[in-house]
Amino acid sequence: MPLNNLGEFGLIQKIKEQFSLNLPQSVEGIGDDCAIIPESDQSSLLVTTDMLIEDVHFLRSDILPQDLGYKSLAVNVSDIAAMGGVPQFAFLSLALPLNLDGAWLESFFSGFKDLASNTKIYLLGGDTNQSKNGIAINVTLLGRVENKFLKRRSEAKLGDIICVTDFLGDSAGGLKIILDKLPRSADALHLIKNHYRPQLNLQQGQWLSQHASVHAMMDVSDGIDSDLKRIMESSKCGVEIRIEDIPVTSVLKKFAKGHDFDFLQLALAGGEDYCLLLTVDPSAYEDLNNKFQLQFSRSLFPIGTIVEQELTYLQNGMPFKIKNNGFDHFKKADGHE
Ligand code: ADP
Ligand code: MG
Repeated sequence: MPLNNLGEFGLIQKIKEQFSLNLPQSVEGIGDDCAIIPESDQSSLLVTTDMLIEDVHFLRSDILPQDLGYKSLAVNVSDIAAMGGVPQFAFLSLALPLNLDGAWLESFFSGFKDLASNTKIYLLGGDTNQSKNGIAINVTLLGRVENKFLKRRSEAKLGDIICVTDFLGDSAGGLKIILDKLPRSADALHLIKNHYRPQLNLQQGQWLSQHASVHAMMDVSDGIDSDLKRIMESSKCGVEIRIEDIPVTSVLKKFAKGHDFDFLQLALAGGEDYCLLLTVDPSAYEDLNNKFQLQFSRSLFPIGTIVEQELTYLQNGMPFKIKNNGFDHFKKADGHE
């Protein structure tokens, strides 16, 4: 079957079927934001890996090397945050064209270091190769979590309140500005910044994971339309989303109006927001949100409910259809994010 029929998630499912049999006891592999390798009764090692490829994930002519360095680590930190962990050790593998400038690399490392030192991550190794076709960057990140705080995608329960920890769509708005070469007003630069230097929710992830009322958690990397489906598959449930409650910044709304594009589409299916998507016991929601507000000076955004089956969007109670689905590497015609 050709890849574009199988899709990214179909392919991952095939890999999972072949390689997830007979894992050592309590080891959890493919299927969540990180693999889980228990170290003791108290704690587990979390492992995640993500790749950024020139002309698929970034345009070298547009992104600053320091932003690329930051982002290549950030997307991995977000996966550790999603499971409530503390990131610790990174491995960096690079495929680089021969003619790449030394100053470019210096800046790349300075961006990587910015985030590594802020989050106390140590770079312990990697691999370096020549590339004949553009830059490819792979980061593997290890973290640690107390077993009692670990959060998975698979723990959503019927009636749970679904929420996100931040506004959605700014990053996708930034990407649209880059790809469509829209004018770089102050608002546009703000959206692009969210695309290149996404705000991580590491403290939020660790804090939320310490609350038993938080059932399932993951990070938003492919757009909630796609990421909600991951929760549905893992937790064997359905999802009902209220479109009018999707948090969108006034900057994105204003920019979208001025350039005649649909901000909701970006907020639902754009991706690369790197905030957290979680499901919460409804009886504990108000208390959790009040405490979250005290801790982080902002509120959670409740956007829907866990139901028995299917993904349904409602706008003021009426069925709502979205135009495009979340990101799939093998389903978009131009292969870009
Ligand atoms: P995320 O967006 O959180 O990084 P992905 O959607 O990339 O997660 O991947 C989903 C799951 O599939 C993860 O558990 C990941 O480790 C696994 N996975 C993705 N690609 C591969 C692959 N080529 N081989 C094995 N596992 C994979
Ligand atoms: Mg993830």
